[in-house]
Amino acid sequence: MFKAVSSPFLVPSDGSFRHRKTPTQSDGPPPSKKEYKQRLKGIIEELDSWQRVLYAQDRYALLLVFQAMDAAGKDSTIRAVMRGINPAGCQVYSFKQPSNEERDHDFLWRTACRLPERGRIGIFNRSYYEEVLVVRVHRELLENQQLPYKFDTKKFWDERYESIADHEKHLARNGTVILKFWLNVSKEEQRKRFLDRLEEPDKNWKFSMSDVKERQYWDAYMKAYQEALNATSKPWAPWYAIPADDKPAMRIHVADLIVKSLKQLDLHYPSPDPAEENRFEAIKTALENEEL
Ligand code: ATP
Ligand code: MG
Repeated sequence: MFKAVSSPFLVPSDGSFRHRKTPTQSDGPPPSKKEYKQRLKGIIEELDSWQRVLYAQDRYALLLVFQAMDAAGKDSTIRAVMRGINPAGCQVYSFKQPSNEERDHDFLWRTACRLPERGRIGIFNRSYYEEVLVVRVHRELLENQQLPYKFDTKKFWDERYESIADHEKHLARNGTVILKFWLNVSKEEQRKRFLDRLEEPDKNWKFSMSDVKERQYWDAYMKAYQEALNATSKPWAPWYAIPADDKPAMRIHVADLIVKSLKQLDLHYPSPDPAEENRFEAIKTALENEEL
C-alpha cells in the first residue's frame, strides 16, 4: 500500500498535530516571480510525464483532496498545479451544500460517485471532510440529515472520523493514492484578501457575505480542523498542512508533494504481450510495404 512521503508539512498520525504551532508562512524569503515560474514549470513538466505513465499503466488512481478556509487559494492552486496536464486524465469536482438527493444518502455517497478511475487524477475541491468541519461548526446542519440515531455526541463524531479513515483505507488498498492538503491561511491574510475582493472591481465577484459570516467562527473551524486532521492523517492517506499566506510558495509545495508521491509508486509503461511483441517486426514490414 502507498506510504506517505515525509515532509515538514506532513501531519503526523500520532494525534500530536496542533494548528497553533503550524506555520501559515513558508520558511525563508518568498521566491522571486522568475524563480517561482521556473520552479513550478519544472515540477509541472515532471507531473505531466508521470501522469502519462499513470494513465498508460492504468493501475493506480490519484485522489487529491483540498480543504481550507475561504480565500486560502484552493481554486488558484488547483489551476496552477494542474496546468499543463492532459485534461482527459484529470477530473475536478467542487462540493457545495448537499442537495436533497445527496442528503438522502450516507455522507460518503456523493463523493464516492466521483472518485477517480484507475489511471486518472481526481481533485476534490472540498470533500466529505465538510461533514466533520462545517457541519461540526454549524451543528444545526445535522438536523437536516434525517439521521435515525442520536447525534452530536463525542461518539457520533468519533464514528464519522472512523468511517472516513476506513473508507480511505479501503480505497488505498484498492489502488487509490490519496493526498490531502489543508491550505493553512492566517486570519490576518484572509482579512487582507477579503479587502482586496471588495476593493478591486475584477475581484468583486469573488466576495460573498457568507465568507465573512464564516470568518466569525474561525476558532471553532480551527478546532474542527485539528481534530479531523489528527483523526484521519494516516500513512496511506496523509494530510499535509501547507502554509498558505504566500501563494507561490504554497503552489510549489503542493506540486512538489504530488510529484514525490507519484515517484514512490512502481509506475511504468506497460510492456506489450510477448506474443504480440514477436509479431511487431512482421507488422512493421507489412505497414512499410503498404500491405495492410
Ligand atoms: P469559492 O472559492 O468559489 O468561494 P467555495 O468552495 O467556497 O468556493 P462556495 O459556493 O462559496 O464555494 O461555498 C460552498 C459552501 O458549501 C461552503 O461554505 C461549504 O462549507 C459548504 N458545504 C460543502 N459541503 C457541505 C456539506 N457536506 N454540508 C454543508 N455544507 C457544505
Ligand atoms: Mg466560498
